[in-house]
Amino acid sequence: MRAADLRLSELVEFGEGLISLQGRRLVLHDLNALALMRKDMAEAMGPEHARRLLTRFGYFWGQADAAAMRRLFQWDNLVELLRAGARLHSLQGVAKTVVRSLDWQEATGRFTMEVVWHHSAEAEKHQIALGPSKTPVCWILTGYASGFASYCLNTEIYFIENKCVAQGDRVCAATGHDRASWGDHVKPHLAYFHLEEIRGKVTTLTQELRKRTAELNRQRHELDKLRPLVQPPLAEAHSAAFRRVLDMAARLARFDTSVLITGETGTGKEVLARYIHNLSARAPEPFVGIKCGALPETLLESELFGHKAGAFTGATHDRLGLFEQANRGTIFLDEIGDITPAMQLKLLRALQEREIMRVGESKPRKIDVRVIAATNRNLEQAVAEGRFREDLFYRLRVVAVPIPPLRDRREDILSLARLFLHRVGVKLKLGNLRLDATCLDLLTNYRWPGNVRELENAIEHAAVFATHGIIQPEDLPPHIVQAVPRTQLPGIGTAQTLAQMEQAQIQAVLAQVHGNRAEAARRLGISSATLWRKLKILSPSP
Ligand SMILES: [Zn+2]
Repeated sequence: MRAADLRLSELVEFGEGLISLQGRRLVLHDLNALALMRKDMAEAMGPEHARRLLTRFGYFWGQADAAAMRRLFQWDNLVELLRAGARLHSLQGVAKTVVRSLDWQEATGRFTMEVVWHHSAEAEKHQIALGPSKTPVCWILTGYASGFASYCLNTEIYFIENKCVAQGDRVCAATGHDRASWGDHVKPHLAYFHLEEIRGKVTTLTQELRKRTAELNRQRHELDKLRPLVQPPLAEAHSAAFRRVLDMAARLARFDTSVLITGETGTGKEVLARYIHNLSARAPEPFVGIKCGALPETLLESELFGHKAGAFTGATHDRLGLFEQANRGTIFLDEIGDITPAMQLKLLRALQEREIMRVGESKPRKIDVRVIAATNRNLEQAVAEGRFREDLFYRLRVVAVPIPPLRDRREDILSLARLFLHRVGVKLKLGNLRLDATCLDLLTNYRWPGNVRELENAIEHAAVFATHGIIQPEDLPPHIVQAVPRTQLPGIGTAQTLAQMEQAQIQAVLAQVHGNRAEAARRLGISSATLWRKLKILSPSP
């Protein structure tokens, strides 16, 4: 039997509801349907995976045809059987296949076959479904040829298409070789033939996922243990003043209104902003915060809005700004009173239009972000003096939440101190720490200009110096002890002169501002010159 002797009429039988090719059932189906399926596959799983599945489809088809040919006929030689594949392809209407060369060295296992496909149905339909291509597209055909030859020779044979009508060639053409003859050239093509590539990838990804899930569970467990240590100190609020703040925050959390939190430095404005975010419907989405006052204008703009690569020197990559990072979540703009007029205008536009433009881009991008701003300045006054835009002010301050300074909610000082003490005990592995009775009075009587943050720092300072787990007055930062008039402290009772109290107060404030005399003078409400004079009285220079 020779390949040229194959006749379609002899191979195929047409019966009612049954078409068979020597006992194998066939169906006639429409090529346009295949073209549309190809398009769906390319869109659903990407062209690479579509190509892989279609190549495999062709490969199975080729193997099945080869098996039938070997079973049905006595072939003059193996080369004739190989040619039968090409002939069958033509008979089935897939393409008119012409074998240009065929060489099989059984001793060495070297195989070479060159085929030309005229009128490839696959190339024609691919172009209709997906348009012209930059690479050959007769994936089923190459799969078929590879599957057929591999079956016949019982070794790995791969066909690679090197010309294709879909990429503008006059005809389609492919070359087949055994694995060894191809060498490295075939490597990028192997993935299309072997499902192991997909299965292997799935296995690797599954293992990776399992590992990450385990790691995530471990971290979650750790986090649960640490939670009491990092929980914001809001639960410790017993004062009516602060309970009011929390009630207000809880109520407005449900609405998407802009909130302006005001309060002195260290009162916990960011903690409150997070509290609002966590109670809101946006809680599962990101909360991002920024201290606007800390950055120069150009940097702040790119930080908030992002930039395009090349927008300015050093912008080597496209960068997502905080507004985009916070998308669907909350952005916290701290120190909002410190931004420049130009920046105020840009921010106003972003809030009004609900869209931002990356620096160096002219395409606006939609944002869905809740804005919580905060300031320790008197913004009303800044508006009155023309330093802060009125329109921006009203847009930010739909609801204002003032946080009272710690000295106005003295009921909270001790519970906060105990919370911080517990935390620092765990953090520094100091075990259970407690406050001596004199300390309690000192802490409640001190003015806490640095508010909750200063209290937290003072407690950590004291914990470091404490002996036997008890915090004594001398363990606290000296300026706190000095600042509280001794007469107020029961059990000490030694009266101080006015000058001594003044000295203590000056030293305390100087300590807080790290010796910055201008700032100390401002806080004490005296001029720098007065402070200078008082300091000279305190420590007369020789
Ligand atoms: Zn082609």
